Amino acid sequence: MIFQAKYMVVFTGAGISAESGIPTYRGAEDGVWHKYDPAKYANIRYFLKDPKYYWGFFREVRYPLLKQAEPNKAHIALAKLEAKGVLRAIITQNIDGLHQLAGSRRVLELHGNTRRILCMECNKGYTIDTVYRQLETQFPPTCSGCSGRLRPEVVFFGESLPTAVLEEATQETRRCDLFMVIGSSLVVQPAASLPVMAKQQGARLVIINKEPTPLDSIADVVFHSAASEMLGDI
Ligand SMILES: [Zn+2]
Repeated sequence: MIFQAKYMVVFTGAGISAESGIPTYRGAEDGVWHKYDPAKYANIRYFLKDPKYYWGFFREVRYPLLKQAEPNKAHIALAKLEAKGVLRAIITQNIDGLHQLAGSRRVLELHGNTRRILCMECNKGYTIDTVYRQLETQFPPTCSGCSGRLRPEVVFFGESLPTAVLEEATQETRRCDLFMVIGSSLVVQPAASLPVMAKQQGARLVIINKEPTPLDSIADVVFHSAASEMLGDI
């Protein structure tokens, strides 16, 4: 199916990142991750009320995790498929930037990217390394240009998905002839509707996910296995 495809689009979720050691909200069980509540660190209202909570989480959990996480075989396989001209776009729910680290260029990030930090006033961008160092002397951190508050460029709970990215993801889905889901349980939107849309306009649908999904029954092929294993083989 991949080599017959003229326009392949991939949709990735937390499962592909989990195989690089990035725990999901629900899957997290150990140690320091548990000290922080996603209902607080990932919520816009809480962030505005108490930014120190997020930056504490960033310093202790997120930053070390991002520094150690590396793209796995699945990320690398997708980058290679793009380089060969087969894969045209990756739509992702992940915020860790691992697709880009693997070499993927066209990545539509529905939930933003936690490696990018922005000033909420003047939009100046910062890297996580800069802000991590800044935290030693300034907590919570502010913009060096205008003293505005900084935030990660991610979609918090309580915020809507970026319209332009969502629009582009929809267009790519309408255009493709092969839509492959990797590591998503396909329960939240738009994860639940994009594969249906692809299927309705005639694309083949492949699902690779460790657990069954509600859309398994409409897929052409389903693999209940690890993404890195499957795509490594491919
Ligand atoms: Zn600023």
